[in-house]
Amino acid sequence: MVRRAAPPKPGQAFEELQASVLFCGRCRAPQPVRERLLLVLPNGELYEYLCTACGESVGKRTLTGAPLVMG
Ligand SMILES: [Zn+2]
Repeated sequence: MVRRAAPPKPGQAFEELQASVLFCGRCRAPQPVRERLLLVLPNGELYEYLCTACGESVGKRTLTGAPLVMG
């Protein structure tokens, strides 16, 4: 499920709309979050998740978009 070898599909406009819900410590409730690109790393991209209700940073994630290097 982590493969990024998906072929390009026509009319794929949902990519940016993917919403996730994370627990926000400030709201003390699960909140929908906004993904924000924080850093571009040599081996991927660091994303930060911001609570859409209060703007608090509720998490980070590194997306490795680089091709896997095998042996
Ligand atoms: Zn919040």
